[in-house]
Amino acid sequence: MESMQKRVVIVGAGPGGLGAAMLLASAGCLVDVFEKQPYVGGRTSGFEQDGFCFDLGPTFLMMTYILHELFQLSGRRLEDYMTLQEIDPLYRLIFHDGREFLPTRQAAQMKAEMERLFPGSYQGYQRFLDVESQKFTRLVPRLRVPYSSWRDQLNWQFFSSLPTLDAHQSLHTKLGRYFSDEDLRMAFTFQAKYLGMSPWECPGTFSMIPYMEHARGIYHVMGGLQQITRGMAKAFAEDGGQLHLSTAVQEILVEKGQTTGVRLENGEIVKADDVIINADFAHAMTHLVKPEKRRKYTDERLRRKKYSCSTFMLYLGLDTLYDVPHHNVVFAEDYRKNVEEVAKGRALSADPSIYFQNASVTDPSLAPAGQSALYILAPVPNKTSGIAWDKELSQYRDVVLDTLERRAGLKDLRSHIVTERVLTPDHWEQEHAVFYGATFSLAHNIGQMLVFRPHNKFEEWEHCYLVGGGTHPGSGLPTIFESARISAKLILESYGQTLNAADKANH
Ligand SMILES: Cc1cc2nc3c(=O)[nH]c(=O)nc-3n(C[C@H](O)[C@H](O)[C@H](O)COP(=O)(O)OP(=O)(O)OC[C@H]3O[C@@H](n4cnc5c(N)ncnc54)[C@H](O)[C@@H]3O)c2cc1C
Repeated sequence: MESMQKRVVIVGAGPGGLGAAMLLASAGCLVDVFEKQPYVGGRTSGFEQDGFCFDLGPTFLMMTYILHELFQLSGRRLEDYMTLQEIDPLYRLIFHDGREFLPTRQAAQMKAEMERLFPGSYQGYQRFLDVESQKFTRLVPRLRVPYSSWRDQLNWQFFSSLPTLDAHQSLHTKLGRYFSDEDLRMAFTFQAKYLGMSPWECPGTFSMIPYMEHARGIYHVMGGLQQITRGMAKAFAEDGGQLHLSTAVQEILVEKGQTTGVRLENGEIVKADDVIINADFAHAMTHLVKPEKRRKYTDERLRRKKYSCSTFMLYLGLDTLYDVPHHNVVFAEDYRKNVEEVAKGRALSADPSIYFQNASVTDPSLAPAGQSALYILAPVPNKTSGIAWDKELSQYRDVVLDTLERRAGLKDLRSHIVTERVLTPDHWEQEHAVFYGATFSLAHNIGQMLVFRPHNKFEEWEHCYLVGGGTHPGSGLPTIFESARISAKLILESYGQTLNAADKANH
């Protein structure tokens, strides 16, 4: 690879951009990553405030083998860059009537827990694991290949995997095959929210998410999930990659149907053989590419696409450590109504569902001794809703804190707050460059998946590639890592190269 020396520019140092950067730098490309923020990680970054350490976005790491593979492909061991810690029980789920369910990967304990709350339900769970395991094995290879053309989609492999996709039915309907109790079904379908979608709309394909959680576990990274992108940036630099922080790209340059480089905000033009866009897809199109250069992704068409919900975030430094698990979900008292309000609504829900992470029970490095860093996320409508956050913020903060004090065992929560940061959809849009503040990017409805999602090898121009949540296979960390692998591979293949031998072994 040494001889290749192709120059690649990457716009954005999120997990997608850094993943591709690592792979290409280790394969001998000259890679420059331009990141507008003074830090790496994008939505997978973190921040420190008054001695408390918070992850900005992701708190669940799944399918860890993909991250291991990325590091292996660049000739490294993940263990040398970060320490993963499995979280079990997976989470505490709090239902409308106050019952608490703690699913675990320990079979005997899980059986007892299910029989305690949902008598007779364990058999359905075993069937769920068996059937979904077979589907998962057939589906995973689909996540590893690009869907750059109909030819990719209309092949035998694709058709043979169609029955495993279950895309014709919702996640909620699909999991009814295994779980009849409505609360139990909720415990296996709320994961649609990881994609910012409703379980009643999210395609059944995504039953792979609860399956992955139960079969392969949920992980924390010591020091926070921000250590993932920090580790990637370190690996990239070790291979000679150039990371330019606080250096925003102003324009992606397109001439005669191909990308030729970028213009930075400081006016400098950086030429490249290939450009990879990691900035949020719709944001990048509308802000970094002149309208006359776009035929398929016009402003109008982008506005008409479907986007995930947004999130209201509270990051609290507390002078105490609550004795509650690492991951917690408080379901709205009327869950379906809340989900519909978020998906379709124009107003905020008075009865929210809330996820919170009490990571200090696992990771004392995040807060001073005896204290804790609490991360709170409430799904809310994205910016298409027109909600005036400057007016709503204070009242909604109260709704969230009241709910946690009343229903989640966080007694006197307000009195323990020593430091606080709030993020609304406005912040996601303005500070984090996320179109419509849709924190989980383009929605994953069937019309925006596979060949219908913006392609890894971007369809508008030559020498342009996409990575991250806005392209195939989708918006969680494991799929974002796959997008990095797919695009890096496509670039190398376009020059007659392949990723190293470790990759060949995986196929
Ligand atoms: C609140 C929240 C919780 C989440 N929880 C999870 C979870 O638990 N598990 C999980 O797997 N996933 C989770 N996700 C989803 C997903 O994993 C992350 O959002 C992920 O960081 C998206 O990665 P990305 O590479 O697509 O983009 P980003 O992380 O957004 O990175 C894009 C980068 O591009 C930069 N950029 C933008 N414009 C420019 C420009 N003009 N010039 C230079 N740079 C630019 C941005 O600053 C940013 O650094 C969560 C997301 C959010 C927001």
